[in-house]
Amino acid sequence: MAGSKENIVMFPFMAQGHLIPFLALALQIEQRGYNVIFVNTTLNIIKLRKSIPPTSSIRLLEIPFNSSDHGLPPGSENTDVLPYTLVIQLLEASTSLKPAFTSLLSDLIHDGSPLLCVVADIFFGWTVEVTHDLGLFHAFFSGAGGFGLACYHSVWLNLPHRSTDSAEFSLPDFPEAGKFHMTQLAASFVAADGKDRWSVFQHKNLPAWSYSDGVLFNSIEELDKIGLSYFRRKFNRPIWPIGPILLLGEDRSRVGRKHGIKPEECIEWLDTKPPNSVLYVSFGSMNTMSASQMIQLAKALEQVRNTNFIWVVRPPLGFDITAEFRPKEWLPEGFIERVVVDQKRGLIVVQWAPQVEVLSHESVGAFLTHCGWNSVLEALSGGVPLMGWPMAAEQFFNAKFLVEEVGVCVEVARGTNFEVRHEDIKEKIELVMGENAKGKEMRRKAGEVKEMIKEAIRDEEGFKGSSVKAMDEFLSAAALLMKEKTKL
Ligand code: UDP
Repeated sequence: MAGSKENIVMFPFMAQGHLIPFLALALQIEQRGYNVIFVNTTLNIIKLRKSIPPTSSIRLLEIPFNSSDHGLPPGSENTDVLPYTLVIQLLEASTSLKPAFTSLLSDLIHDGSPLLCVVADIFFGWTVEVTHDLGLFHAFFSGAGGFGLACYHSVWLNLPHRSTDSAEFSLPDFPEAGKFHMTQLAASFVAADGKDRWSVFQHKNLPAWSYSDGVLFNSIEELDKIGLSYFRRKFNRPIWPIGPILLLGEDRSRVGRKHGIKPEECIEWLDTKPPNSVLYVSFGSMNTMSASQMIQLAKALEQVRNTNFIWVVRPPLGFDITAEFRPKEWLPEGFIERVVVDQKRGLIVVQWAPQVEVLSHESVGAFLTHCGWNSVLEALSGGVPLMGWPMAAEQFFNAKFLVEEVGVCVEVARGTNFEVRHEDIKEKIELVMGENAKGKEMRRKAGEVKEMIKEAIRDEEGFKGSSVKAMDEFLSAAALLMKEKTKL
């Protein structure tokens, strides 16, 4: 392809759920013959250095950031060291990176590095102006899916739940998404009145999306048509669904997180279990539930006798996430001894599991997830049906999409503020894991989506899947603009 060895600057927000797909995209772009310059704050870059495979020549450039200057605990450069309530503070603080990012781009231009474009995080709306002022092509990369992000965008801009007394509402500019219930709103939406910190941040950030030269989505055209159409209609800009962009094997295990278990140990344990008999339970890189919810979930897992499980545990809300983890302090008394040691039915992983390896193992029959989009794509790429327990951000909308539009998910609970009953969770697990019509239908549909995904990323002589074509189109659009600029 023309333009090989041009540089593409990539700049993700400082969170695992953003760094992971950005790094996966960086590796894919590099394979297509481009140089990648990956920008982030110092501590994230130090961790990322270990993640770059030896065969890759991705260049890592750091921007200094002092979290204490922004009222955050020292060394807080990633949401994974912060309680969820402080995420907004890190987002606000991230706008202070603007001058340093601007001079980094100017220096690169000055050095004579041929720059093709900037690919920035959807939380960095301010990068559009900076990039365009320097005469460069700008694209956003959304690690979130089209449907979930469309709902997120619409709710922030319209706050529809503020103008109704009913428990239900629909989205004025996205009616095809159907009805929403108040319980499907993350805490930041519920508290939003247009003047709160999240609203103020998003009202500055979101409008910038429509000035970018286009948006790359970690999604699949055939799966996510409704949400992608929303953005095409709203922005009148190219929307390129290029997913799933997944970070696999070795590369991902080094994204700076210490595993709570050796991947080999996890796989050995899975090897001892029959196909489709294990429920994988994990709620992403930063969310956690209340202490009482955790007890109910543990009880449900203990009572579903014929199901094995791997549960990635993290301290419940109100516990110090920086202190040493002692799962026994938050799980029911004797739970680990009974289920893990005596019955050998469960594996408790503290903090971080090799998720992609787990999800691609044939013993895994379903995934109880917070519906973070990376987790969703990782499960669906392996044809694994989902059980949704959304907790924050656009996860509630992802769950709605997976239940109502795709048919591969059953919702177990919503949010972290509500009481849940172990009997209800148990019933849902039996429904999905059991040999019954619903379970079978969900597995069949998940299998169909797996095939759809395979087709989208197929790149063979004479055939290119939709995601491969979208990536070609994005690179050509950037190359065309830069060619025109150099002619001027
Ligand atoms: N992840 C992992 N091990 C864990 C928990 C999470 O590897 O124990 C990875 C997961 O595979 C995914 C990412 O962290 O790639 C989480 O992203 P997602 O969008 O699902 O959720 P977020 O953390 O952004 O809420």
